[in-house]
Amino acid sequence: MTNRPKPQPGILEIAPYVPGRSQAAAGQKAIKLSSNESPLGASPQAIAAYKGVGDHLEIYPEGSSAVLREALAEVHGLDGSRIVCGNGSDDLLHLLAQCYIGDGDEAVMSQYGFSVYPIVTEAAGGRIVMAPESDFVASVDSILAAVSERTRIVFLANPNNPTGTYLGASEVRRLQAGLRPDVLLVLDSAYAEYVTTSDYSVGVDLVERADNVVMVRTFSKMGLAAARVGWLYGPAHVADALNRIRGPFNVNLGGQLAAAAATRDVDFTRKLARYNAQWRDWLSAQLGSNQMRVVPSQANFIMVLFAEPAHADAAFEALLAKGLIVRQVGSSYGIANGLRISIGPEAAMRAVADVLKNMVFG
Ligand SMILES: *Cc1c(COP(=O)(O)O)cnc(C)c1O
Repeated sequence: MTNRPKPQPGILEIAPYVPGRSQAAAGQKAIKLSSNESPLGASPQAIAAYKGVGDHLEIYPEGSSAVLREALAEVHGLDGSRIVCGNGSDDLLHLLAQCYIGDGDEAVMSQYGFSVYPIVTEAAGGRIVMAPESDFVASVDSILAAVSERTRIVFLANPNNPTGTYLGASEVRRLQAGLRPDVLLVLDSAYAEYVTTSDYSVGVDLVERADNVVMVRTFSKMGLAAARVGWLYGPAHVADALNRIRGPFNVNLGGQLAAAAATRDVDFTRKLARYNAQWRDWLSAQLGSNQMRVVPSQANFIMVLFAEPAHADAAFEALLAKGLIVRQVGSSYGIANGLRISIGPEAAMRAVADVLKNMVFG
C-alpha cells in the first residue's frame, strides 16, 4: 500500500466532474435535458464532413487544426494564428491552468461558476477562490475583491452554466480594467451562440485590446458534443505558450472537419439560436408560477428555483418518471433547490411544463 505510485498532492482531493445523467428507468425511452446539448441536433454539413473521414484512419490529422482555424478566422473575422483548438474546451481550460498556475497560486471564479474551473486549477497545484454572487449573477466587485497577490487566472463563464445569467459588455470591461496586467482573464463564452441580449460581448474586442484576455469557445453546445472540439482566441504570447504544451494532435480529424463545416454553416447556427430563444422564452414564462422561479437565462437551458430542496427533488423524480432527464444542481453547485433544464425538442418542452405546472408541493 505505501510503496506504490502516488498522484501529486491534492489530486485525490479533487471531486470528479459529474456529467448530466443520461438514463431514465430501465427500458424507458428517455429525453436528455441534462447536458445542454443542441436542441436541433448537428448541422447536416458537419455530419457529412464527419462521415467522410473513415477511409484513412491510419493517417495522423494535421496537428494545428489549420482547416478549422481558417474557417473560424474567416467567419468570425479573427487572426487565425492566434486561435488554438482543443479536444473540447475542457482541454483548453486544463492547458491554461497548466501554463499559468503553479503550486500555491490562486484562480478566482464566481460562486456558481462552471464546475470544471476548480478541477483544472487544483490539478495544476493551485487553489480556487470563490467570489460571492448576488441572486445568481456574477459580481465584478466581488471578483476583484477576491483577487490577491497569488492570483494568476480569473475564470468567467459568460453566460454562466448552471445559472444562465450573464454580465454585460461594460461590466466585463470594468472587470478587465480592474485586474493587474499579469492576471489572465479567461472569458468562457461556451453559450455565445444562444445569447439574444444586445448588451453582450463575446470577448473578441477585449482580446484585441488587452494582453491578458483570452476567449474560450466550444462546439459542444451547438450540435457537436460527441466530436469534442473547443477553441480559444487570445494574444500571440498565450497561443505560443499553449502550442508548446498541447497534445501535438489534440483535435481528431473528424472533429476538425465537422467543426469547420459547422462554422461555415451559419444558417444552421442562426436557426439554432432562433429555435432556442423561442422555447427558452416559452418555458421560462410557463414555469414562473406554482412556487417556482426561473432565473433569466441567455443560454440554451434555464435554471428553475423551487421553494425548498425537497420540492426540487420531487420535481426531478416526477420528470424522470416521464422519461425527462434534467440536471440537479445541488451536489455540484450547492443550489439544492434548483434544477437545470436544457432547451430541447418542442414535445419535451411541453411535457416538462405540463409536469411542473401540475406538481402539488406538500
Ligand atoms: C459545456 C461547457 C464547457 C465545456 O465544453 P466542452 O464540451 O469541453 O467543449 C465549457 N464551459 C462551460 C461554461 C460549459 O458549460
